[in-house]
Amino acid sequence: MQMTKMGETVLEIDLSALEHNYRFLRSRLKDTTKFLGVVKAFAYGSDSVAIAKKLESLGADYLAVAYVKEGIVLREAGIRLPILVLHPLPVSFDRLLAYELEPNIYSVKILADFLQFAQKQGLKRYPIHVKFNTGLNRLGFSEAQVDELAHVLEGRDEVEVVSVLSHLAASEDLNEREFTEQQIASFERIAHALLPRLKRRPVLHLLNTSGIINYDRAQYDMVRSGIGLYGFGNEASIDRQLKPVATLKTVISQIHTIEKGQSIGYNRAYKADENVVTATLPIGHADGIGRQYGNGKAYVTINGHKAPIIGNVCMDMIMVDVSGIDCQEGDEVVVFGERPTAEEFAMGAKTISYEILTGISQRVERKIKN
Ligand SMILES: *Cc1c(COP(=O)(O)O)cnc(C)c1O
Repeated sequence: MQMTKMGETVLEIDLSALEHNYRFLRSRLKDTTKFLGVVKAFAYGSDSVAIAKKLESLGADYLAVAYVKEGIVLREAGIRLPILVLHPLPVSFDRLLAYELEPNIYSVKILADFLQFAQKQGLKRYPIHVKFNTGLNRLGFSEAQVDELAHVLEGRDEVEVVSVLSHLAASEDLNEREFTEQQIASFERIAHALLPRLKRRPVLHLLNTSGIINYDRAQYDMVRSGIGLYGFGNEASIDRQLKPVATLKTVISQIHTIEKGQSIGYNRAYKADENVVTATLPIGHADGIGRQYGNGKAYVTINGHKAPIIGNVCMDMIMVDVSGIDCQEGDEVVVFGERPTAEEFAMGAKTISYEILTGISQRVERKIKN
């Protein structure tokens, strides 16, 4: 028997696609607007170091991660850009400082905790970012707390507010335009009340990717983009102009011919009511392909043809229907990338590109393409 060189499951990361998306997003902004690249959660499941290095070389102004440990990985890889930590927790302040990461301060308590820490460390004008809740009701000071915040900061030189931000709840949903406009108005009232009470004028930023697309008049001094950099704009017309950065590929391990009446996989979830040909692929829920994608909800592409996932997703494998598709053991399989896109794959199970992308587990090797 002929030995073929078989591939394995890999997540290819295309840095030229990232460059294309970065330039596309930038082209929708004023030249003077700063750009923060969101690289939390392994850069949306891709590779945070490779993405951050590329963004640094492209001239991005800032990076953001969710947690301190994600920022440490970037610093240890030599990233010099300022890094905003969106959700710092007091237990990690020591490490935040050691790695020159900048905390997002979102509540009276975390402000008090950070000021106490800063005083103990003898810090002077350590950069902090202040986040306001304008309607998402997740993290942030309320508009009513502007005065209290300004008061606490008065005469404290341990920290300096380098930016003031908020986050939109429904920037991709034009049925919520009125709500979003209210968030924008609230943010402007906050800035108007707070800025005169700060020693230096901070950078103002509100927009995420869909905000850049739909509300560019609220770009202020900086925008924060995540999903757009990775190739998705929460809107088909925008998706067509972006390029997916991540392509999840695998390979056919084995082909079976299943006769009418036989079943496939655990719990016999699929019963063949005619003869079918299946391919078994080395990727399963432990790799991030959840059980919700099984039983026909999603498809992969083999030699240009759609092959639906049949039966239940296993931990390390899925079976797909390749009846009528010209394919062999060892052939390449695209789980998502150009077709289906991660967004299309996700839609099959009624979820969104963000979830499928960030869920690809660390067991899957990342292969960087320059
Ligand atoms: C994740 C995140 C973003 C990025 O949002 P996208 O929709 O991916 O562009 C921006 N700002 C904050 C506060 C976030 O948590």
